[in-house]
Amino acid sequence: MNKKHINIPIFIPELACPFQCIYCNQRKISGQLEVPGKNAIITTIETYLQSITDKSTEVQLAYFGGNFTGIPISEQEEYLQIVQPYIKSGQISGIRISTRPDYIDEKILSLLKKYHVESIELGAQSLDDEVLRLSKRGHLSTDTEQAANLVKNYNISLGLQMMIGLPGDIFGKSAYTARRIIELGADNTRIYPTLVIRGTQLEEIYHRGDFSPLSLVKAVEWSAELYKIFEQGGVKILKLGLHPSEGLLSGKDLIAGPFHPSFRELVLTALWKEILLPLNNKEGKTLNIWVAPGQVNHAVGYSGSNKKILLQHFKKVNLKTKDQMTGREFIFEIIR
Ligand code: SF4
Repeated sequence: MNKKHINIPIFIPELACPFQCIYCNQRKISGQLEVPGKNAIITTIETYLQSITDKSTEVQLAYFGGNFTGIPISEQEEYLQIVQPYIKSGQISGIRISTRPDYIDEKILSLLKKYHVESIELGAQSLDDEVLRLSKRGHLSTDTEQAANLVKNYNISLGLQMMIGLPGDIFGKSAYTARRIIELGADNTRIYPTLVIRGTQLEEIYHRGDFSPLSLVKAVEWSAELYKIFEQGGVKILKLGLHPSEGLLSGKDLIAGPFHPSFRELVLTALWKEILLPLNNKEGKTLNIWVAPGQVNHAVGYSGSNKKILLQHFKKVNLKTKDQMTGREFIFEIIR
């Protein structure tokens, strides 16, 4: 059985970012204004650790948000040192960080390794240079490729995050990015649809009429296709869609774009819809479907949408689980 895994997330908004990527306003995305100090980090760690009842849970401390390896080395060490007593006592297994691909080199990796950094997530965003240029990322796809290779050489778990619907992006470029992420040996990924956030350069471009974000329908469609590519390539998708911060949920920080608090659910609903819809070509009164444990809600669909489509054709639709099944396997029977 897979071990339960928990990240203790510490957000470090926009700390040490050399650029302001056009879509980004980390302070708004992370929903907090202050960079957390040592005491705040310790309090967060203690609170999380106390709430974990299953002692076999694997716990990592995650420095998310900005550009961790862009911070002066002495500050990186301070952040990393805070976690060391918990690693020594076995309460935390290691650290994960997120950073920019152009802020990774052998010296940095040796330091991170020394402090038990087990996972590095690089904001690749796209592996198309034109998309990177238009998004003012300040690095090229070759930076991501070199950084990914270095991280793998240091035997550190590699995450490559991507965004869809950036300026200049088309589905083919996003699909190419996903395939390259697999080829580069990533262990995991996150897919973030581009949103127009208040206070970003993208907001100005959007108001000028020079950028249109993906619609929610398109973002779900693209993500469902990327999901299949990553699934086939054996890359775990840790996240689909941005974390629904208070500012995004209230709409206060969101100018435009495909935000939905249950974005992952919508994508999984779309994947099941594709599979189940052909059943509407069959004749009968009752449709019984068996799926793998954990998949019933996705098969039924967000707000029951998939089941509702099937109910337009069948009088009764029952979805149940079968232990031996995995993934999106299913079997069905039709009672006439
Ligand atoms: S996307 Fe990352 S690198 Fe760009 S400004 Fe935001 S935090 Fe900095």
